[in-house]
Amino acid sequence: MKKAIFILPLFLGGILFSQRKPVTKPKVDYAGEFRKISNEIMLNSNAYDNLHELVKGIGPRFAATPAYDRAVEWAEKKFADNGGENIRKQDVTVPVWERGRENLQIKAANGNWKNIRTLALGGSEGTGGKDLTGELIFAKDLVEFNKMFPSDVKDKIVFFNYAFDQTIINPSEAYLVAGKYRWSTPSLASRKGAKAVITRSPTSAFDDVPHTGSMYYDALDKNKIPALSIGAKSSDELEQLVKNQKVTVKINTTSGTKGEKINHNVIAEIPGNKDKSVIVVGAHLDSWDISEGAHDNGAGVVQILEVLRVFKKLEIKNNHTIRFVLFANEENGVHGGETYAANVKKSGEPHIFAIESDAGGYSPRGISLDMIPQRRRLVFAWKNLFLPYGVYDFSQETSGQDIAPLKKLAIPLAELVPDMQRYFDIHHTSQDTFEKVNRRELNLGAVAIAQMVYMVDKNW
Ligand SMILES: [Zn+2]
Repeated sequence: MKKAIFILPLFLGGILFSQRKPVTKPKVDYAGEFRKISNEIMLNSNAYDNLHELVKGIGPRFAATPAYDRAVEWAEKKFADNGGENIRKQDVTVPVWERGRENLQIKAANGNWKNIRTLALGGSEGTGGKDLTGELIFAKDLVEFNKMFPSDVKDKIVFFNYAFDQTIINPSEAYLVAGKYRWSTPSLASRKGAKAVITRSPTSAFDDVPHTGSMYYDALDKNKIPALSIGAKSSDELEQLVKNQKVTVKINTTSGTKGEKINHNVIAEIPGNKDKSVIVVGAHLDSWDISEGAHDNGAGVVQILEVLRVFKKLEIKNNHTIRFVLFANEENGVHGGETYAANVKKSGEPHIFAIESDAGGYSPRGISLDMIPQRRRLVFAWKNLFLPYGVYDFSQETSGQDIAPLKKLAIPLAELVPDMQRYFDIHHTSQDTFEKVNRRELNLGAVAIAQMVYMVDKNW
């Protein structure tokens, strides 16, 4: 008994102490709050079932398609079911790009026509359904291409075989380097007079699955040439072929941009109890046309819904307004993110933080912090709270595409950093399916986002 009498005040020290000295503010048990958030999500999450509804029930939900509108309706209902308030849609003007059909054939000097599996790049103009035939020329990378004269390139079809650098351990860094071949080479090749461009997909896999993704024509481009992507295996075979003999290519595609349409960002809130300054928690609702988009970005969508659910379920009294934003048209334009930021700029509505989940539904490893060093240091002080949840990497300094336009308004940004080693195997392909997502890993990601939002809300 004696012992207990001494120990009890130690356990109740915070309470007893504050009773004797009312000037001392009671300390919040953040570790306990983190545990409550985690237990609620790990035991009662709807994220996995919601993901199934979204990516199997609705399926691909590309910008400007009826399926995207169905996804918007679904999201509004989910926000309401989970207790979101001020649910609304924000108009976003998006391009109407249609893939149509695509066909790519090659013929070596003494061979027959052979089909290669291909995808038109998002935004690419097609051949108008007619055969476009030309001689293939090959460039390993941009250094090699930049040495070519326009006379070498004129009327040719340029093939870039720049491979995803397997030696770069952070896959998103390797993707940034390989991805620029996708978005920049159509304009570069067009300027030297090329008829079309074929690029190796920026994939970490050694298979033959083509990856789509966006490309852009420069405003000055007079000739918007067709741009196609092929898988890693076909790329290596094509390189061997074109190095040894003359190769002719035949392209027949019907892709193209046909005007614009209104899509919507979908928004819900938990109003702040102390003030109306805003914390944005975001993901993008659209996917590529050829993909279920389970990791990209169905996972982010259902994690955001889970953050809303857990804040309501645990009756967390948030100081600031937590605003959940599902962005339109990330994949082929980022017009949802640009529109949201333009509205914030116009209204002057104060925003203190924005976080996005758009790197796949894999186990969380960290949170990337795109903010000034002073603010980053405030987050570093919370590191030990996150460690029991496998979240340790706060070293990266990038943010999600949809919230990136808020950077111009000096708003601190962050992104969930999951383990991305498998992400670029399937990114922007038909392989990004529900079956590739693990329920437990998906939930752990939601836990990390909810904990981060909780800390920012209580401390900033
Ligand atoms: Zn994405």
